[in-house]
Amino acid sequence: MSEKLIEVNNVTYVYEPDEEGAPGYTALSNVSTHIDKGEFVAVLGHNGSGKSTLAKLLNAIYEPTEGTVSVKGIVADTEEKGDEVRRIVGMVFQNPDNQIVATIVEDDVAFGPENLGVEPSEIRRRVDEALKSVNMYEMREREPHRLSGGQKQRVAIAGVLAMQTECIVLDEPTAMLDPMGRSEVMKTVCRLNEELGITVVLITHFMEEAVLADRVIVMDNGRIIDEGTPAEIFSKADFLRSHGLDVPQSTELCRLVGIDGCVLSVGEAVEKIASLIGGAAG
Ligand code: ADP
Ligand code: MG
Repeated sequence: MSEKLIEVNNVTYVYEPDEEGAPGYTALSNVSTHIDKGEFVAVLGHNGSGKSTLAKLLNAIYEPTEGTVSVKGIVADTEEKGDEVRRIVGMVFQNPDNQIVATIVEDDVAFGPENLGVEPSEIRRRVDEALKSVNMYEMREREPHRLSGGQKQRVAIAGVLAMQTECIVLDEPTAMLDPMGRSEVMKTVCRLNEELGITVVLITHFMEEAVLADRVIVMDNGRIIDEGTPAEIFSKADFLRSHGLDVPQSTELCRLVGIDGCVLSVGEAVEKIASLIGGAAG
């Protein structure tokens, strides 16, 4: 049986109206799900579906208006318990420039553990290890603002790793990156999950990224509208389209040429199409 790391029970989240007259808004309505230890979960949904709100509830930046979020049994209903949750669940945001706090890469990664009161020798060890995990150790003395977007995001991920959180929530970490940066970050995320056993919640609107997850959660209009393996989710192209989403290009191509089943990767698509052509020629 898999062990639950995070449990989301009947959560509703309402943004209160503000003094400037912005109306209140119910961003999540009665959402229930869970994240298992060691799992890689992708959260899909078009803009405004409530993904970022959910992310902020998972690491106790927000508290639910109704319902509960518990992380290893901890419900963050006090400041102290919020800190406890954030020591278990770390967060990486979309804009790499908003996450940099220091002028040298290794100082930036050390910032989190320093705030936790970790001993200097232990910080040194954690920073080196975290930078090696994201392939940025060679650049430890660089200035973060001179790095590429993909490199900056990997430094941000190292910052979370140095706090030794068990789970990382990444909120569209590749949205502002070029294809090369996206691929660097996704390789890093997959490796952390596979090799270090870190639980990953990846919020994305790239279908090709969601394919890499163990499980996909689909959101629309503040609700979870479907949940399943990538193959289960991406075999429902019409359903996804009706909610403003798409299927990966390889999946669509294979469907169009009449290949049975749900093809998820470029490699698999090439193989299937090659054998289709071979079969037709032979
Ligand atoms: P997503 O990340 O899927 O794009 P969000 O969780 O950011 O969605 O937002 C969900 C809904 O809540 C959107 O309609 C958005 O306009 C609204 N919203 C987000 N932040 C606030 C806020 N601070 N005040 C009021 N409404 C907000
Ligand atoms: Mg968002």
